[in-house]
Parts: sequence; C-alpha cells; structure tokens
Amino acid sequence: MRIVRTVAQLREAISDARTSGASIGMVPTMGALHEGHVSLLQRARAESDVVILSIFVNPTQFSEATDLDAYPRQEAKDADLAEDAGVDVIFAPTAAEVYPEGFATTVSVSGAITETLEGAGRGSSHFDGVATIVAKLLLAALPHRAYFGQKDAQQLRVVQRMVTDLGIPTEIVGCATSRDADGLARSSRNVRLSAEDRQRALTIPRALAAVSAAVAGGETEVAALRAAAESELERGRVVPEYLAFVDPDSFAPVETVRGAVLCAIAARVGKVRLIDNDLLTPPSIPTSKEN
Ligand code: AMP
Repeated sequence: MRIVRTVAQLREAISDARTSGASIGMVPTMGALHEGHVSLLQRARAESDVVILSIFVNPTQFSEATDLDAYPRQEAKDADLAEDAGVDVIFAPTAAEVYPEGFATTVSVSGAITETLEGAGRGSSHFDGVATIVAKLLLAALPHRAYFGQKDAQQLRVVQRMVTDLGIPTEIVGCATSRDADGLARSSRNVRLSAEDRQRALTIPRALAAVSAAVAGGETEVAALRAAAESELERGRVVPEYLAFVDPDSFAPVETVRGAVLCAIAARVGKVRLIDNDLLTPPSIPTSKEN
C-alpha cells in the first residue's frame, strides 16, 4: 500500500493500472475510519482491481469552525485499517495541494437537493464544498467507480447529480448504512458522544424503526408517520433539527407514501450533530391472484 500526498503522485501510482485496463475503485472519506468506511472499502475491493482511499478533512464543507477543529484525525490508525481492507493507494493531500493559492472555482449543484435538509441546516456552502471536493477527487483519480454511503443520502444524491451534469466518467455506487449492533449508524463523530448521550442517540434509529414499522403495517399518511417518529424522539428527549419525508430523487417533500420515500432525521445529541435516514417502501399492494 502506498500513501501519496499530491495529485501527480496519485496519477503516477495508478498509471500502470490505467494503461493495462485494470478497473479502479475509489472511496472518498474524511478519515477517522470506522466499520462503515470499511464496508465501502470492502465493496470497492470486491469490484475493482485497484482501490484508492482518499482522506481529506475538507474545510470548505464545515459551517462551524469548532466542528472542523473537533473532527477526529488519526492517519496512522486509518492506514492500518486501510491496509487490512486491501487498499492499494491512500491519497491524503494537504489543504494547500487541494486549494492552492488563488483557488477560485466552486462546483455548485442547485435546487431542492442542495437547499433542503442538510443544505438548510448547514448553509448552502456545505454542498458547494462537497460537490467541489468530490469533483476534484474524481478528476484527480478518474476512477471507474466511486463508493458513497446511503447514510449521507443527500450527499450521495448531490454527487450523482454533479457527476451526471459534468459528464465525469465515474459510476457512483451507493452503499447501505453500516450500524452498530444496537442500531446506531456508524459515524466518525460518535466517538465524541458521552456514554449517556450515546444511549440517547439510539432514539434516532428507534424513531426510524417506528416509521418503517408503521409503513409495513399499511400506514401511508406522512402526518401519521411523523407523529410516530415524534413520539419516539420525545420519549428519548431528542429534539430533531429536522424530521423530513422526501422524494429520494428530487428531495421534494411528500405527504403520502405511494412509492419510495426517504425519511431523514438530524438532531444534536450532546455536543454532536447526528444524521440518519431510512428508505421507506410501501408493502406491495396484493394482486387479485394473491387474494
Ligand atoms: P465521511 O468520512 O464521514 O465523509 O464518510 C465517507 C464516506 O463514508 C461517505 O460516503 C459516507 O456516506 C460513508 N459513510 C459514513 N458512515 C457510514 C456508515 N455508517 N455506513 C455506510 N457508509 C458510511
């Protein structure tokens, strides 16, 4: 496994693979790797000849300086985990490599997919930061596939839109959310939860489970689903920043579950802002043959 710091070194590290026609998979991360990231790396490993892991804590996508400062950084441990997961190249550039003097370009995806939920909560600059860094990483490596977690469903959608619109020849692969045994979605920020807050954080997957159980039981009205989630959240004393039911493609709000609907929650628990979501699908309506 090689660790490279510049785009030139990255391109040199994968040039033989590219000329020999080998497939290249990339997993962009901000480091502080956990099993969620490892699940993406394993998928990339299974589907690619060469696996690149990028590690860059991207300052432009943070709206709060304190969150950026507190973001965990552990490159040596990340390198061990990456080696175990079969990564071939770690691309860990400096901020100066990514944003050299005079940097003046922003990739901005417009519309509901960037303006709602995370875009509203963290400010419009958040997804500009995400779209710009992901565009830069994909152009640096030009991987055949890049792997992103459904945990950040809106980010995944923004990246898909950006890649389609800019014609970047990379297939964006969405990967299922990896959870701890108790249901909490894995996140680099979870290490900053106190033991008590970690228990309280479980309210979020419980609220999502209540919603999906109601949908499985035939409920289609979002007002009723919202009430089911809110009652779980209240019981756990978690005040959501948002509890949203949206179309998973357009991120427009929905009132009735007729097809796939994304239920997404953001909430601050103690010092940490957590997000989670579930893709709801109504139980199929029985055909006359099954009756
Ligand atoms: P991050 O380092 O938090 O920016 O995440 C890097 C990538 O890992 C993103 O595509 C995330 O969506 C994905 N990811 C983070 N947590 C999880 C998780 N629990 N399960 C699956 N993917 C995840």
